[in-house]
Amino acid sequence: MFVPRSLKIKRNANDDGKSCVAKRIKPDAEDLQLDKSRDVPTDALVTEAATIPDRHSSESCLLPSPGGQLAEVHSVDPEQGVKDSHPSEEPVKSFSKTQRWPEAGEPVCVVCGRYGEYICDKTDEDVCSLECKAKHLLQVKEKEEKSKLSNPQKADSEPESPLNASYVYKEHPFILNLQEDQIENLKQQLGILVQGQEVTRPIIDFEHCGFPEVLNHNLKKSGYEVPTPIQMQMIPVGLLGRDILASADTGSGKTAAFLLPVIMRALFERKTPSALILTPTRELAIQIERQAKELMSGLPRMKTVLLVGGLPLPPQLYRLQQHVKVIIATPGRLLDIMKQSSVELCGIKIVVVDEDKKLFKPPVLVFVDCKLGADLLSEAVQKITGLKSISIHSEKSQIERKNILKGLLEGDFEVVVSTGVLGRGLDLISVRLVVNFDMPSSMDEYVHQVGRVGRLGQNGTAITFINNNSKRLFWDIAKRVKPTGSILPPQLLNSPYLHDQKRKEQQRDKQTQNDLVTGANLMDIIRKHDKSNSQK
Ligand code: AMP
Repeated sequence: MFVPRSLKIKRNANDDGKSCVAKRIKPDAEDLQLDKSRDVPTDALVTEAATIPDRHSSESCLLPSPGGQLAEVHSVDPEQGVKDSHPSEEPVKSFSKTQRWPEAGEPVCVVCGRYGEYICDKTDEDVCSLECKAKHLLQVKEKEEKSKLSNPQKADSEPESPLNASYVYKEHPFILNLQEDQIENLKQQLGILVQGQEVTRPIIDFEHCGFPEVLNHNLKKSGYEVPTPIQMQMIPVGLLGRDILASADTGSGKTAAFLLPVIMRALFERKTPSALILTPTRELAIQIERQAKELMSGLPRMKTVLLVGGLPLPPQLYRLQQHVKVIIATPGRLLDIMKQSSVELCGIKIVVVDEDKKLFKPPVLVFVDCKLGADLLSEAVQKITGLKSISIHSEKSQIERKNILKGLLEGDFEVVVSTGVLGRGLDLISVRLVVNFDMPSSMDEYVHQVGRVGRLGQNGTAITFINNNSKRLFWDIAKRVKPTGSILPPQLLNSPYLHDQKRKEQQRDKQTQNDLVTGANLMDIIRKHDKSNSQK
């Protein structure tokens, strides 16, 4: 039987698993909400580590499921959503040619590449129609036969069922037998740098991970013959369930480096969903899902769901409830879903907090040199970044200014753009970042502005933009900022204005030195004085 993505099918107790009739039935709104009782209005998303049952769960990405078997299935119209779907009948598509092509990010039929509207219940793969389901099952069968022929010992034994077993990463004997200096040498040659306690040794071959044969086969099929350096070090650490912060160049294989441990974890985890991959853009999410599907192909019960904006929400919500193992989401769409429900996954509860409970973020104070500049910049910041921004200058009434200041201290604004009015005197303890968007006209004013951060012993940061409009202050700025340990831009340090000012200052200092009367130069000064008098 098919499980259509946009339909829920009533599965009878005596269902023999061969039926392909899909019925569109009015959905129960609750079905679309994972847990309505925990519904809260949204503003920011925080992850809260609840009791983590297993030290080895990756705290930032493995989450427990709402659980429960799908016994009754109802329909949801992907276009109209929950509210106005109506009972009607629509047969499952028979032929591939009657299916449409997929939009970017939509599931793709593994056989013909059309829209993968249904999930094959036998393999969990996406298919578009009965025709492709049949072809797909035939292909799977042929593949199985082939592998039996090429590996007769395995064919006689029990079929591999990773879900019935468990997996613990153990260092491969080859890696264990290497000397410490050999490992260090390898890391050095490959540019692998690690920090942290008792970080496990890198692997050298994918075979050292003890992956199921299907996964090893998928790696080879994807052209992954040997692991890249980031994979060598990250995969075993990830397989041990430790938290990792990793950094490597673009195109160095980071995706597979985190996907492989996630896949192994999800494979042996009964709960669904068992992993959440958050990524900033839809394109990246689509790319990650494609790679995940490639690597998971043929592994049992390893469904993924893509929760991204720009595509209808109901099919994604529906798919989320089909016991998917891995969620790949962008924060915006995940937030939309959280507005309707609260999901708890593997000990990590995702809670949506509303405006009032928002965590306080210290505001940024930006200084500009004119009122119009303050208004324009504040407007631009709000429009482009979506940050709550306000301007303050002498044209605002006293009451307005008071309210802005109160809001600033209470965290109502994320960015305040000000002329010099906020530059002096006020103790804005909550400000941690000052931006001198326009460099003030004097060093005195500058010192006051940057002094708005770091009050009462708090640490603060100041970012200053300078251009040739303040060229007469270059040397003064360098002298003032250098002792703080800040690295100054070479454009400033190499500026001819700076060198000119420095030279003039040194000359002045020299002159002052010469004008001073000391025991050593006293006689010289008297002689010079007598000489000039006698010449007169
Ligand atoms: P990424 O840095 O994760 O975006 O990966 C860059 C590209 O390298 C992708 O096309 C991957 O499919 C590919 N790739 C990742 N790991 C390997 C590997 N071990 N061997 C060959 N190709 C790889």
